Amino acid sequence: MARIVMKFGGTSVGDIDRIKNVAKRVKREVEAGNEVAVVVSAMSGVTNQLVDWCKQMAPLHDQKEYDTVVATGEQVTTGLLAIGLQELGLKARSWTGWQVPIRTDSTHGKARIDSIDTPEMLADMAEGVVAVVAGFQGIAPGNRIATLGRGGSDTSAVALAAALKADRCDIYTDVDGVYTTDPRIVTKAKKLDKITYEEMLELASVGAKVLQTRSVEMAMKHHVRVQVLSSFVDAPGTLVCDEDEIVEKELVSGIAYSRDEAKITLVRVSDRPGVAAAIFGPLAEAAVNVDMIVQNVSEDGKSTDLTFTVGRADLDRARKVIEDHKATLAYEGLICDANVVKVSVVGVGMRSHAGIAQKMFQTLASEGINIQVISTSEIKISVLIEEKYTELALRALHTAYGLDAA
Ligand code: ASP
Ligand code: MG
Repeated sequence: MARIVMKFGGTSVGDIDRIKNVAKRVKREVEAGNEVAVVVSAMSGVTNQLVDWCKQMAPLHDQKEYDTVVATGEQVTTGLLAIGLQELGLKARSWTGWQVPIRTDSTHGKARIDSIDTPEMLADMAEGVVAVVAGFQGIAPGNRIATLGRGGSDTSAVALAAALKADRCDIYTDVDGVYTTDPRIVTKAKKLDKITYEEMLELASVGAKVLQTRSVEMAMKHHVRVQVLSSFVDAPGTLVCDEDEIVEKELVSGIAYSRDEAKITLVRVSDRPGVAAAIFGPLAEAAVNVDMIVQNVSEDGKSTDLTFTVGRADLDRARKVIEDHKATLAYEGLICDANVVKVSVVGVGMRSHAGIAQKMFQTLASEGINIQVISTSEIKISVLIEEKYTELALRALHTAYGLDAA
């Protein structure tokens, strides 16, 4: 017997038939002798609708009331699934965030989970009652409903698995696992059997949208074994786990891309102490996240070009901040370019093998693709290239690192 948490995303509970289907899946796990808690998202499209209604009421609205509104989507699915399970002859009950309770901090709209009370739920589960828990929500100080940020049900599920000391956390979604790269672009992409937390974290943060980044951080911290699998096909998915569970390590496990990037260059900005602080300080104050940064060596000792990337959605705001500080920054030109994509190769093998970056640069060069900015971490190399080369770069790199399916 095992204790498992099963999580179903929005498309998996998208209509009544699908919820009935989810109930059947859950029943199988119960009949296999497992204690089961299920975490559900809102039916697909529902959260978007709720967010939109808040915006229609007032573009700048109270975040506590926003949470009150958007948390309702998940409550509907918990009740429906509990009914579905009861119809199949199982014992089941629904739990909202405050009923558990799942306690969060007071960062409404993007709250973090502080603790989860489990005794009552565990007692119930031990009696064979399936716990159907609302994802995405909790209760903040002051008894206010809080939500965990878009995609937050993944984090709910992993946090619950950690709190319940579950043997497994199965995340059912509309893809059947984690792939070496986006299979819509590279037809030879392969499904991975296993991937390390660290690799998954890097992939999630650079554009692979399978799991919410925070859920992976949480899984890594608490060593929760997370399986990503499809709710529509009956096949094993991808296990996200500790490195020592993976026997055959690849040098590169995955290649991700993000079109959500824009590049800003300050031409001939003065080269003196304090300039970087003068640029990035105001951007940080305006809540613009800066990602990759390169500063050229100045030729005359007085001025240099400085290039960095920001999220595409922040480009206009970033441009305005820089223009507002033109007097202090004393640059000659400002070039903004949203026509870029960030391509990243990720693999724990990089820690112990040389030449992985070189292979990336060489591969892109032989396709005639110019690299504009490079950044690296211990297990990741990212390059910024022109957006029109996205597909070409992904396919060439996938082949170069030996990832193509046979
Ligand atoms: N329903 C929420 C959203 O759409 C949370 C989730 O599905 O993970 O973002
Ligand atoms: Mg999701």
